[in-house]
Amino acid sequence: MEQSGLDLGTWTTIFQNEASGLLRGHDWRLEFDYSLETLNSCDWKDYIRNTSARFRCSGCGRGWPSNQVKVVFHMRLTGTMGVVKIRPYRQNCKVCTEAPMGNPSIEDDNIKVLMENLVKKIRIKCYHEKLDDGRRYFKTYDVESPHEPSHCEACLRGICNQ
Ligand SMILES: [Zn+2]
Ligand SMILES: [Zn+2]
Repeated sequence: MEQSGLDLGTWTTIFQNEASGLLRGHDWRLEFDYSLETLNSCDWKDYIRNTSARFRCSGCGRGWPSNQVKVVFHMRLTGTMGVVKIRPYRQNCKVCTEAPMGNPSIEDDNIKVLMENLVKKIRIKCYHEKLDDGRRYFKTYDVESPHEPSHCEACLRGICNQ
């Protein structure tokens, strides 16, 4: 699986910084899982978030920014062990025919916003803390062309405009 733009080490480091002192010293681990679909287990809590990212076509090299990039999180706490599975939804090139779906390249600043909101969601959903749902917003790009539903994996799954 192409992992360009998605470095688990970076995500984990940022997550640990954001989680520091907030998750009761429990051990939380992140992983990417491109097969995540809807929840089929009540042990897991889920959560979807939007961010912005850049994409690059592996066929023609064309790049484009998007402010509609969905990331789905599934999280579970078992005893003192927590797991977060992450699925960033991909897009493909609208110029090339049958271009492969490419992973989003998400800037560290926006990963930080995602992780800050994720930690808050874990506190609410897994630790039952009463926190307001106020959230920080991600940095957006100047995007000239409209979102392309037929080239967005999340649109194709019907979850992009939720
Ligand atoms: Zn292309
Ligand atoms: Zn979409």
